[in-house]
Amino acid sequence: MEVERPGRPVDINHLPLGKVEAHEGGLRIGALVTNSDLAYHPLVEARYPLLATAILAGASAQLRNMATTGGNLLQRTRCYYFYDPATPCNKRQPGIACSALEGINRIHAILGASEHCIATHPSDMCVALAALEAVVQVEGPAGARAIPFAEFHRLPGDTPRVDTNLVQGEIITAVDLPARGFAEHHADIQVRDRHSFAFALVLAAAVLEMDGDRIREARLALGGVAHKPWRDTEAEASLRGQPATEDVFRRMAEIVLTGARGWGHNTFKIELSRRVIVRALTQAAGLGRPSS
Ligand code: SF4
Repeated sequence: MEVERPGRPVDINHLPLGKVEAHEGGLRIGALVTNSDLAYHPLVEARYPLLATAILAGASAQLRNMATTGGNLLQRTRCYYFYDPATPCNKRQPGIACSALEGINRIHAILGASEHCIATHPSDMCVALAALEAVVQVEGPAGARAIPFAEFHRLPGDTPRVDTNLVQGEIITAVDLPARGFAEHHADIQVRDRHSFAFALVLAAAVLEMDGDRIREARLALGGVAHKPWRDTEAEASLRGQPATEDVFRRMAEIVLTGARGWGHNTFKIELSRRVIVRALTQAAGLGRPSS
C-alpha cells in the first residue's frame, strides 16, 4: 500500500517467546503468545477476566489465532488517510499536513490530540492492559528494560510518526501482569458500528476494588479516544472512598472529559464516552445498567 517500505524484515517467529508463565505473583506473557491462546488460558480466564473479555470482543477468531501479544501493542492507527498515500498525513510523512483535521474524522481522537495528528490507537487489548497496569518487557542492543504500560505508547505531539517509546533495535519480549487482576469487579464496554469484526468507536475498561459499598481503588482506561489507551489518575483518585453510585461515576466522567475536544464528525464521542464510562463503572460495581 506504499505506507511503509521496510528495508530488512526480520522473522522473529522462531524466538522462544510463546509461553504464558507464572511470574512474581502475576503472569508473564511471551510476545509471541497468540490472542486466542491468551484469552482462553485458564489463568487469564480465572485471574484476569477483563483481559480475556477485551481480547474476545475484538477482531475475529481467524485474526485472534494469528495475532500476537507483542504485535497487538504495535498496531498502527486505522486512520483512513494514513493508509491512503494520495492524501497528506504527518504520521506517514512528517511535516506535510493532517488530512483528518478537516476531513472525515468520525473515528478520531477527542483527548490528547494535537494539530499534527488526531489519530487513535486501535487496540482493544491494550486498553485492558492499561487498566491492569501491565509492564512491557523489551530487549535491544543496550540490554533489557521494563516499560510501565502507561509509558509505552505516546501522544502525537509534534512527532506523530513515533507511536511508542521503543528505541531503535528494541523488540518486545513479554508483557507482565501484576498479581492483582480485579477478577471480582471489572467491566469492558465497547461501542462499535457493528457487533463484531469492527474497531470500537469508544471502549472503557474499568476495574474496582470495593470495601463494602465504598470504592477502595478504581482504574479506568478508555480506547478509541486518543493516540494511546487513555487513563486519568486524578479522576480515578476522585473515586477513592466514595460510594459506588451512578452520580459519583458521572462526576468522575466529567473529570476525565474536561479537556475533550471534537473535530466535527467525531464530536458525538464526547457524550458517548461519558455514557460508556458510567456504564463500565456501574457494571464493574455490580449495579447493573445505569439509567441512561
Ligand atoms: Fe495522518 Fe494522524 Fe492526520 Fe490521520 S490523524 S491523517 S494518521 S496525521
